[in-house]
Amino acid sequence: MLERRSPIEKKPIIVAIDGPAASGKSTTAKLLAARLGYTYIDTGAMYRAVTLRVLREGLLDEIRRDESGIAELLEQITIGFQGHRVLLDGEDVSGAIRENRVSREVSFISSLKPVRDKLRELQQEMGRKRGIVMDGRDIGTVIFPDAELKIFLVADPRERARRRHAELSLKASGAAVPSIEELEAEIVKRDRDDEERTHAPLRRHADAVLLDTSKMTIDEQVNVVYELVNKIAGQ
Ligand code: C5P
Repeated sequence: MLERRSPIEKKPIIVAIDGPAASGKSTTAKLLAARLGYTYIDTGAMYRAVTLRVLREGLLDEIRRDESGIAELLEQITIGFQGHRVLLDGEDVSGAIRENRVSREVSFISSLKPVRDKLRELQQEMGRKRGIVMDGRDIGTVIFPDAELKIFLVADPRERARRRHAELSLKASGAAVPSIEELEAEIVKRDRDDEERTHAPLRRHADAVLLDTSKMTIDEQVNVVYELVNKIAGQ
């Protein structure tokens, strides 16, 4: 009788998931990684952690005037994960990096070359042994162009704003949540900034499987990608 082996028993691969803001990348990636027994790496969280540190030090305006100021700060920063928790200099900042002030500035900080260079090195090291699901904007194009499976997730901007609104409303403990219209405007601006920047812009790799999640449930998204992994890792 033929045994059905799970992908984890097969050769571990890299699953690169890219796409615009709030397209369902992290939810899909997290659930997929759990199902495969892979490590999930949220690279957006790493850019958010750098941004949080810049904001906490009050250095944003200075760096806007003179971008070279970021280099010194990057030398002092340590970013890591403990399970799904994001650690900035050893402190759990998983909640703080989701604040709206971080969301507003993260595209600027992540457009800076020294930031991209530092995080690219860290991310490539994290995926050295493969067996990872990594999500972001440039995973399939820059970080792991040799990833066995590349996915590009998209969804209608209004739908993405609705999802983000529901997520924020669930977490908000009394704090005001921006309206769906405000969130949509912020999402559209962030996408444009990410697509138009010089270094590692948001772009779909020619090999990436395009998945429009506008009308899909989370389960459907995870199932589609899981089946693709099974096909590839099972060969
Ligand atoms: O995925 P998330 O929305 O948390 O990412 C926040 C921001 O971090 C993005 O809008 C983008 O500016 C930046 N980012 C990036 N490259 C990645 C992941 C995120 O530039 N690989």
